[in-house]
Amino acid sequence: MNLSVTLFLIVLITMATTAKGKPVPCGRCGGSGQINQKVGFGAMKTHCNICKGSGKIDSSVLLCPRCSGTGNINTKVGFGFMETHCNICKGKGTVDPSVILCPRCSGKGQINQKVGFGFMETSCNICKGAGKVDPNVHLCPRCSGKGEIKQAMGFTFVDVQCNVCHGAGKVDQPLTLCPTCIGQGQVNKQTGFTTAKEPCSTCKGKGVIPTTVRPSRDTVLQDVSLEEFKMVADFVAKAQASKSLVLSSVVKIINPSLSAKFVGSKNEKWLFHGSRLESCIAICQGGYKLPDHPGMLGVGVYFALDPNKSI
Ligand SMILES: [Zn+2]
Ligand SMILES: [Zn+2]
Ligand SMILES: [Zn+2]
Ligand SMILES: [Zn+2]
Ligand SMILES: [Zn+2]
Repeated sequence: MNLSVTLFLIVLITMATTAKGKPVPCGRCGGSGQINQKVGFGAMKTHCNICKGSGKIDSSVLLCPRCSGTGNINTKVGFGFMETHCNICKGKGTVDPSVILCPRCSGKGQINQKVGFGFMETSCNICKGAGKVDPNVHLCPRCSGKGEIKQAMGFTFVDVQCNVCHGAGKVDQPLTLCPTCIGQGQVNKQTGFTTAKEPCSTCKGKGVIPTTVRPSRDTVLQDVSLEEFKMVADFVAKAQASKSLVLSSVVKIINPSLSAKFVGSKNEKWLFHGSRLESCIAICQGGYKLPDHPGMLGVGVYFALDPNKSI
């Protein structure tokens, strides 16, 4: 009697675990089960905080997109940085599938606001400091959530209220900039020698069109085959003039709807992008986003042919 009850329970437990998903390599440690833990000024190898050293996690386990599973983030304190508990996962390193990082502040809850000639950290206008948003919140594609756009006035530029979101910075459905008027809602019409503005017919003057492929924030961690590892290692080796970098691990993350947008694109190219660990998963979830601050060659997303440059 006792034995049959026990067997029944085991079957139930097995069914519950198979229903959750399948084991996939742990995205935190790249499947090695070990992570580098900062100790004082050095580092020590310890058991991974997510997979507890097994190197595998259930595919339903979502790493926190803010801290990439470390549970800690670098917070600016005065002129320096301090490690604090992640504001999104509260130090756990994993999140509920309902958690969507605020696309405006990437989960920080704070943004750099231009004040006079400098910048000041203020509470994010989209998430109000929470760092996360509802699934129906989409950044305005015209102003990237700022609520303001730059408009030419004579020989200079002035900040005016965004014509798409009317200053809110967010919209309630996924929108794409109109490819005809690039968000302006107006096009130039040439009549004889005079040029006049008329409403854009593609977007009916709105400046935006509905996004057909909705960018999903769901990323899928996939197994890396030996061939794929060799392909990446070969690429990393050949791309370097100095041959000083050696590939140690590969994590393969697929974003089905973002990749669907690129299928068949003739412009595809493999390039390197250097980033902080905490930004990697956010990029995989929402794609690349233009930063608030200009880099060496202006505002843009920077890629390199040689990984040493990115590093
Ligand atoms: Zn792990
Ligand atoms: Zn976190
Ligand atoms: Zn925010
Ligand atoms: Zn806007
Ligand atoms: Zn248009």
